[in-house]
Amino acid sequence: MQVRCMMCGKKEGITEEHVDYRKFQDNPKRVYICKMCMARTLNEAKDGQKAHKPM
Ligand SMILES: [Zn+2]
Repeated sequence: MQVRCMMCGKKEGITEEHVDYRKFQDNPKRVYICKMCMARTLNEAKDGQKAHKPM
């Protein structure tokens, strides 16, 4: 199945092994975020939490 990352626009093929494969089958318009962008988002979230911590 072809899905497009909503953050970088990269097209990726996902297989049944993908965690959300069935969700995409049920709803092809579901938002997909590739691993790269997911990792970046998580890192930014972590950095954000750090920044908000008072020293
Ligand atoms: Zn991406």
